[in-house]
Amino acid sequence: MKNIYTAANKKEGIKRLAELILQSDYAIVLTGAGMDTESNIPDFRGKSELWRNIDARVVADINTIKKNYRLFHQFYKERLSVMGNVKPHAGHYVLAELEEKGLIKGIATQNISGLHIKAGNKKVYELHGDLRKIYCNNCGKSATAQDLIDFKSCSFCHEYALRPNVVFFGEALPPDVWNTALNEIKKSDLLIVIGTSLEVAPVNQLPYLTSGKTVLINAEETAYKFDLIILGKAKEILVDCLAVIQKQGLQP
Ligand code: NAD
Repeated sequence: MKNIYTAANKKEGIKRLAELILQSDYAIVLTGAGMDTESNIPDFRGKSELWRNIDARVVADINTIKKNYRLFHQFYKERLSVMGNVKPHAGHYVLAELEEKGLIKGIATQNISGLHIKAGNKKVYELHGDLRKIYCNNCGKSATAQDLIDFKSCSFCHEYALRPNVVFFGEALPPDVWNTALNEIKKSDLLIVIGTSLEVAPVNQLPYLTSGKTVLINAEETAYKFDLIILGKAKEILVDCLAVIQKQGLQP
């Protein structure tokens, strides 16, 4: 059975996706950086993966805080400034509407942008943490985003070690969030994976945990098999999918 849809036959793929969503009882969504690129947040694998000729994945590493705090600080200062101004796009709002209608039960995300929450989703499992909380990597004392941007030291231990509450390469995922997401995906009868290369462990193991149907919406194929693959831009695909759902919902 054909299961990969591209620009040429996208309409058919979106119709299939709408049917799967309407037929499901417990749909869960898993998102990655590709969900946010249309809100002008670059992903890590695209053309802009290099930040000042440095691989962003090297800077987002726990060792960089300890060994090169200035480099780490510069990266997150810029990231915090960018992320403070970003807004959800129409695709984020589609996911919020699907949750409100009970058609999806939650979102597990690798994104630290907070855009699913800003769009109105209530059940969001931020597997890689978030940029909202800032604290000292040395003693744990909390601080503000402005303190980090201003290159302040910790107000308690005076170390230059302020960091956002994101999970860096080399760190463990927050266990409560991880376990909840894991259980939700195990319970799901439909898992919709959006905008991720599935190259980062352990999140790339999550699609294996559902015994339900699996869908990938992404700009490119990944190394994983799915029941349905729609290649294209997340925003347009989600907006078109909601339109089909609304149309089908009107039919007797
Ligand atoms: P990734 O960069 O490895 O992969 C993104 C995937 O999305 C790619 O396959 C790309 O082709 C696809 N893509 C890009 N734009 C798209 C669009 N408009 N529609 C559909 N697909 C699109 O991202 P990842 O798999 O999430 O892993 C990267 C890691 O970096 C994660 O750990 C994540 O926490 C972090 N990160 C987060 C953000 C964010 O919060 N927005 C941004 C960059 C990186």
